[in-house]
Amino acid sequence: MLMNPQDISNEERRLTEAPPEEILAFAFERFRGRIAISTAFGAEGCALIDMAHMVDSSVPIFYVDTGFAFRETNEVKQRIEEKYGIAVQVFRPQLTVPQQAAAHGERLYERDPDGCCAMRKVEPLQRALRALDAWVSARRRDMASTRVALPVLELVVQPDGRDLCKVNPFARWTRKEVWTYLLAHDVPYNPLYDQGYASIGCWPCTRPLRAGEPERAGRWSGTNKVECGIHTFLAAKK
Ligand code: SF4
Repeated sequence: MLMNPQDISNEERRLTEAPPEEILAFAFERFRGRIAISTAFGAEGCALIDMAHMVDSSVPIFYVDTGFAFRETNEVKQRIEEKYGIAVQVFRPQLTVPQQAAAHGERLYERDPDGCCAMRKVEPLQRALRALDAWVSARRRDMASTRVALPVLELVVQPDGRDLCKVNPFARWTRKEVWTYLLAHDVPYNPLYDQGYASIGCWPCTRPLRAGEPERAGRWSGTNKVECGIHTFLAAKK
């Protein structure tokens, strides 16, 4: 679908201070049948599922299962599916974890985390996005220095040249607002948050926070990697 960058820019300005529910309602209506929500079952992703369920429960939700998720993450997926009566669509890498180890060696995540993320996260996501014109995720500006300028709507170009509108309804929400929402609405969340984890990805690349560390310091700790690549591989539409 071709999108008018000026139109998206106008809507972005109109919605920039809007509550997340209003941003979701706009996006679900504008991209009806061609929009989906991605989640990795982090706190904000679970809050997003709850909110989206109230705005329009027909919008599909998908999850990229890298094969390295914590047991607790898979359990919260099950609890979410039961609570909301939904079936989350799962996209998996082309190689299983043992197949990847046979082809590229054990613990690729230690030697080449970018390569591991490319195979286990980015490629399955690309497949998920092929059928979409809009993609909703739960990123916030206050998650990391790489996200401080996150807009509510952003237009990017898919590898096949099609436009894609990224929708970020929680862009201006804080971590505290997410947790206030989660607890007020009794939304299931990953119990690892109660054990010192603040951002939860694959188990080999995630550790609990130490006192005073920023939210994503427990991801790829000891390396200079800060993003898995799923939010950086698509170029902005010029
Ligand atoms: S987060 Fe770690 S284990 Fe997961 S895909 Fe990336 S490098 Fe591999």
